[in-house]
Amino acid sequence: MRTEDIFALGLGLTPPWQIVSQRLDIEKVPHELHLTLGSVRGASHPCPQCGRMCKPHDYQEFTWRHLNFFQHYCYLTARVPRVDCPDHGTRRVTVPWARPGSSFTLLFEQVVMTLAREMPVATIASFVGTTDKRLCRVINHYVAEAMNRIDLSALEAFGLDETACRRGHRYVTVFIHLGREERPVVFATEGKGKETVKRFRDHLRSHGGHPERVLEVVSDMSGSFVAAVKEHFPQAEVTVDWFHVVQLFTMAVDAVRKAEARERALPVGTRWGVLKGRETAKTQPQAEALRELETEAFATGVAYRVKEQLRWIRRAETSQAARWRSTNFLNYVRDKIEGEPLLAPVAKAIRTFEKHLERILARWQSWHTNARLEGLNGLFQAARARARGYRNVANFITMIYLIAAPIGDLIKK
Ligand SMILES: [Zn+2]
Repeated sequence: MRTEDIFALGLGLTPPWQIVSQRLDIEKVPHELHLTLGSVRGASHPCPQCGRMCKPHDYQEFTWRHLNFFQHYCYLTARVPRVDCPDHGTRRVTVPWARPGSSFTLLFEQVVMTLAREMPVATIASFVGTTDKRLCRVINHYVAEAMNRIDLSALEAFGLDETACRRGHRYVTVFIHLGREERPVVFATEGKGKETVKRFRDHLRSHGGHPERVLEVVSDMSGSFVAAVKEHFPQAEVTVDWFHVVQLFTMAVDAVRKAEARERALPVGTRWGVLKGRETAKTQPQAEALRELETEAFATGVAYRVKEQLRWIRRAETSQAARWRSTNFLNYVRDKIEGEPLLAPVAKAIRTFEKHLERILARWQSWHTNARLEGLNGLFQAARARARGYRNVANFITMIYLIAAPIGDLIKK
């Protein structure tokens, strides 16, 4: 067997394609193996549109990066014809070893996609010796193609949450299929608020889903989400995720602490003490700060105790009990914060809580665990790390899909 035949066998080449020449470039480090492919001069090729065998019109040379040949980088070069199809005009033929427009072979891309499941793009790029920008283009392509195939006909409940793509910059809103245990992310889109909900409705429709069959939506307390859900998912009830209730009051406590710290010295350890709470305060100063806040008249201490009441509501076993506890909570808090300007952030959180009370209480009737949305935070962090090196919104979304969307085989066999 000639070496050309061995390479042709390895590449799975079939007529009219054949290996024309081979050359090992030892000037380069690592060494490069260049294989030139060609077709029999004047041979017919199938039209990429209809498959009809047509005569070549002209040729153009292309180069693809292929899997390493042992330790050497390997490149394929071929003169690829355009054919004259009577129905489709002059068209570039599709070569069997690469997808149109890519500068990598299919086998190379397959390796990239396997690695992309496990490691950051920047790591793969330095491992295979190319740029992460080019790899992202490949990964984005396969993930988008796999996302096009997902079936949402069974979706009856979804949750949504937003995150910053970069600190303080652009936002991405992520939608998850509630009731799906593994890989629940079904859509992610740039932006936050109203418009993203409409985009999800369109996405749902184009993947076999029915907006009018959606019965429950779990979200935060943003007014624009609630209004948009009413508009686009007419049968759906909104449930506020408990995680967001806690977050609302955590932020209020922090705002009070910052304002108070400008007026007087707070006990050492206050910041993390009030964030973590009595049960999880780790260090001695944190625990002592909490004790001091209990005994002295700090506004931060009052705000902290208000937040801690949420645990008591959360432990209610029925929705009636939760309603009763919430009403008590509101009365208790109003009394505590009255006439104290430093506690304005808590007053604001209370108004939000009251406004969304029915949606908050809906969680006691909900079929879906709310822990799911909280778990998204870990996912966002992982996706950010995975997109490291080349970080824009599209890549961030791709990584979210790659990690948590129901996409199986990324490369169709
Ligand atoms: Zn044709």
